[in-house]
Amino acid sequence: MGEAERGESAPRLRISFWCSNGHETQPSFASDAQVPDTWDCPRCGFPAGTDQDNPPDPPRTEPYKTHLAYVRERRSDEDGEAILAEALAKLRGEL
Ligand SMILES: [Zn+2]
Repeated sequence: MGEAERGESAPRLRISFWCSNGHETQPSFASDAQVPDTWDCPRCGFPAGTDQDNPPDPPRTEPYKTHLAYVRERRSDEDGEAILAEALAKLRGEL
C-alpha cells in the first residue's frame, strides 16, 4: 500500500482514447507506466484507441446468427423432450 501512496506524487500522464462511437475517455497513467494500445470505453464498452481518426473496430455482434441460434435452441429443446420422454418410458418399462 505504501507504493500506491508514493505514486500520488509521481507525475501522471492523461492519455485520450476514442472509441468508434466518438466517445473520448482520458485515463491517467503513471509517467513510467506502459500505455495500452486500446482502452475499453466506459460509456459503451467498445475498445477505444489513441488515434481519434482511426478508432478500433467495435466487437462483432453477428446479428444474423440470432435467428439460427434461436432455431437451434428450439430444436435442442425438442430433442431434450424426446430424450426425457424415452427415459421416462424406460423407467415405466414401456420399452
Ligand atoms: Zn464509446
